Amino acid sequence: MDRLSEIEERLSEVPAAQDEFLQFGREWRTIYGPETPFPPNFGIAVQMASDLSKARADLAALVAVVREVAALHTPGPESGDGVVCFECAPKRWPCPTAAAVQKLGEGS
Ligand SMILES: [Zn+2]
Repeated sequence: MDRLSEIEERLSEVPAAQDEFLQFGREWRTIYGPETPFPPNFGIAVQMASDLSKARADLAALVAVVREVAALHTPGPESGDGVVCFECAPKRWPCPTAAAVQKLGEGS
């Protein structure tokens, strides 16, 4: 499994904490009514869950962009003294962009 797939798998395993806190808030209001304050630190927990949700979405977007870039920069045809990048020939394979993407795979 490549590093991007590993990241996507971990993202899918992170619980949707924001949804759970929102559900808890609705249930709390249903049980105790609108006048009863939420438990201590509930607002902080909701904010943290919201931040986590945004981070998950941001990371998923970044993974998608890296996949698009990686799909563009692939080994191309042989050109004289080596293989060139299909996207940015005459740069040789791996081009700087492909090399940067490959570094991501080395970080796992
Ligand atoms: Zn390239």
